[in-house]
Amino acid sequence: MSQLKPLIAGNWKMNGTKSLISEFVTTFNSDVINDIDVLICPPSVYIDTFIQQKTNTNCILNVGSQNVSEQQSGAFTGEISVGMLNEVNANFVIVGHSERRAIFGETPELVAKKYKMSLDNNLTPILCTGETDEDREANLTFNVIAKDIDAVINLAGIESFKDGVIAYEPVWAIGTGKSATPEQAQEVHLFIRNHLAKYDDEVAQGVRILYGGSVNEKNAAELFKQHDINGALVGGASLVSEKFMTICQNAQSSL
Ligand code: PEP
Repeated sequence: MSQLKPLIAGNWKMNGTKSLISEFVTTFNSDVINDIDVLICPPSVYIDTFIQQKTNTNCILNVGSQNVSEQQSGAFTGEISVGMLNEVNANFVIVGHSERRAIFGETPELVAKKYKMSLDNNLTPILCTGETDEDREANLTFNVIAKDIDAVINLAGIESFKDGVIAYEPVWAIGTGKSATPEQAQEVHLFIRNHLAKYDDEVAQGVRILYGGSVNEKNAAELFKQHDINGALVGGASLVSEKFMTICQNAQSSL
């Protein structure tokens, strides 16, 4: 890892219970992990409960959302707004997860609007990007990623990456148990940094780039040895507090 403070983020997707929240608050109610940022994104119905539970404890977890509307408010049934996330004191938002793009049809332009809306409202967006198997086989990995990043730059400017985070998540590695190798991930992370550097080198060197895709307590340490991997976005392994804690400890030891 480079000198940037690592971020380990857990995406619970449509999983989790109130008792899992209590388990996480207890496990992370310690000062052992103090040099990294740790985040859990539970289903939105649990965000407030989670934040209430961790308040007044030493729990070091940040709590964020898995999605947000690009609209401020209004007749958008089922959506949640930045204002609502602000009111419950959430501080991060995942935008453009591949499941949102593939299942819910989110385009790079829509994701860019969500990214900007989050930043404009004091929420740190985590922009997910990554190629499918077919993209990789057709040598389109860098094109797909550049398109997602350029949509944000076109709408919000390169400076918007000063306060945002990028997560490289190859679609073929998500939930499959088949992680990218550390070298494969590093190659794409370096591409992302170099791509940003074409616009602004300082921004490029300062942005945290997470790797996501079947990260677990066994492969995390090797991934974190790569220079341009600044943390992880974790799905399945973020549902088991001990596994998630081990991933965090690996990030801390990599410093
Ligand atoms: C994810 O959902 O962002 C993810 C990386 O999932 P998993 O760790 O289960 O592959």
